[in-house]
Amino acid sequence: MKIKVLLHSLIFRSLILLVLFICLLLCGISLYFINTQKKSLGDSVFKRNYEEIVRLEESIGLKMDQFSSLLSLLAKTSSIIALDPTESSGFLKSFDVTSLFVSGESVFLYDRNQKLICDNSMLGTNLKDKKQFTDFDKVTPIRAYTTPWFWENDSPQKMFAYAVGSKATASGTIVASFSFRRIWQTYANYTIGEKGFLIATDLNGKILMHPDLQLATSGKHHISEFGISMPQKLSEKQALPLVIQNKNKQYLVTYAYNSNYQFALFSLQPIAEIESTLSTFRSGILLVFAIILPTTILIIILLFFHFATPLYRLISYINHVGEGHFNAKPFPITKRKDEVGSLATAFNKMLLLIQDQMKQLNDHQKYLEEQVQKRTLELENAKNQLEILSRTDELTKLPNRRDLMEKIQHESHRANRMHRNFCFIFIDIDKFKSINDTYGHHCGDVVLQTVANTIRQLLRKYDFVARWGGEEFLAVLPETEIAGAIVVAERFRKSIENLQIDYKGTPIPVTITLGVSQYDSELGVDKSIQLADQALYDGKMNGRNQVVINKKQNNKSDETTI
Ligand code: GH3
Ligand code: MG
Ligand code: MG
Repeated sequence: MKIKVLLHSLIFRSLILLVLFICLLLCGISLYFINTQKKSLGDSVFKRNYEEIVRLEESIGLKMDQFSSLLSLLAKTSSIIALDPTESSGFLKSFDVTSLFVSGESVFLYDRNQKLICDNSMLGTNLKDKKQFTDFDKVTPIRAYTTPWFWENDSPQKMFAYAVGSKATASGTIVASFSFRRIWQTYANYTIGEKGFLIATDLNGKILMHPDLQLATSGKHHISEFGISMPQKLSEKQALPLVIQNKNKQYLVTYAYNSNYQFALFSLQPIAEIESTLSTFRSGILLVFAIILPTTILIIILLFFHFATPLYRLISYINHVGEGHFNAKPFPITKRKDEVGSLATAFNKMLLLIQDQMKQLNDHQKYLEEQVQKRTLELENAKNQLEILSRTDELTKLPNRRDLMEKIQHESHRANRMHRNFCFIFIDIDKFKSINDTYGHHCGDVVLQTVANTIRQLLRKYDFVARWGGEEFLAVLPETEIAGAIVVAERFRKSIENLQIDYKGTPIPVTITLGVSQYDSELGVDKSIQLADQALYDGKMNGRNQVVINKKQNNKSDETTI
């Protein structure tokens, strides 16, 4: 099928539009669902991560609360309240106390004059290397005073300070550094989701904890290195979802802030991990595409071959018939009961009707033609008959005068053209009236017929004779000189004379008188015949039963009677 025809096909265009529509619909639905899913997934992950980070922040805060409580209890023990270098030092260095602290954490005891009494160091205190506590005036026995985060012994630390005893004025001060190592142990490798991790910072953004702990030990690494700028309003607990780009990876960031201990906790979860759940959905959609599209195309192809192709075949078949091929065989349909089948059946019915009508028409035409042919033949025969009748004398069956004159005209033309002669013999039955009168008119008719037959039988091949009228006959002898004509005329006369006509048992004697003339081209036909008539008249006058030559044509001046 030509592409042009295909492009004009209503069915084909509809089907293409249908495919496009289905594709667009599928694309639209997929995009809508992916977007919705992406958004709701992002929202739910953010919510989950946020809840988790708040829980973790609270849990870290709780650990620091416990540390604070521990120091508070220490501040109330008698060995500390004693503020005695020996007793207090012994107590701090006892196993019961040192086991409460982790490596790198220091405990200092100051007297009411802010003079260091002792610490928990087993090796002696090297105060130069240690951060000095200075904020004595902010310390109370009820609530721990804490310093900002500082870095010492390869870990971020914060000092907790309590006034020793219950009376603030009379007590010394106990100071203990809290190491973030405590938190590292539990949370440094904590995972958010499958690949997400935690970063803790102080309020300036310096890193307190990172899975790569190297980043936390120096106090020189900052959260901005991860593309995160410290949120402006850390106090707002309800943080917004934040997406950052780090090392070509996108992360969903959530954070929580602890105002008591002045740290922020960030969770970073790779977006790719979050979206991996979407890939299942995408694969599902792709699968739907992969199934629906080929199926639709297959259905379209099937529809096309099932409807359009037979329709086109039917159209070209109808065109073929429409061009005048009415003898075409019926359109082949394989028992289809659908629209195509009905259309083809209807057309076949119409074609059969046309063929039947045409056959009837042809038969009728044939019949009419045969009738016309038959009638034409009959008319031809009738015409010929009429022609013969119009040229024949009814009684003697000899040509009549009209026919004879035509032949004479023809012969005269021929004679003129060929310079040939031809002769006339005018014949008249003698005393015919008396035959009629004596034996009856019927007897006269019999005599006329007998004389006519006799003369006809005596004619040579090219001669012809006609009844001129009444009991007169005119014979024409082509290619004959006057001498030859005389011989023929004499033969006529003798034959008639010798006839033995018997009418009802009575012999009827008959004679004829004959006038002979030769055609004279200068005189013309009529005058030449008159010459013969004249000779005949002379023969009558001269006694009848004789042949007379026209005297003007005789070599001699007179007519000659033979
Ligand atoms: P003549 O010898 O001078 O020729 O005399 P005739 O009697 O033959 O001539 P006339 O002219 O006097 O008579 C001719 C007759 O022929 C007159 C007419 O009644 C008769 N006749 C003419 N036609 C027919 C015909 O068809 N049948 C019969 N039976 N008689 C005819
Ligand atoms: Mg006569
Ligand atoms: Mg006569």
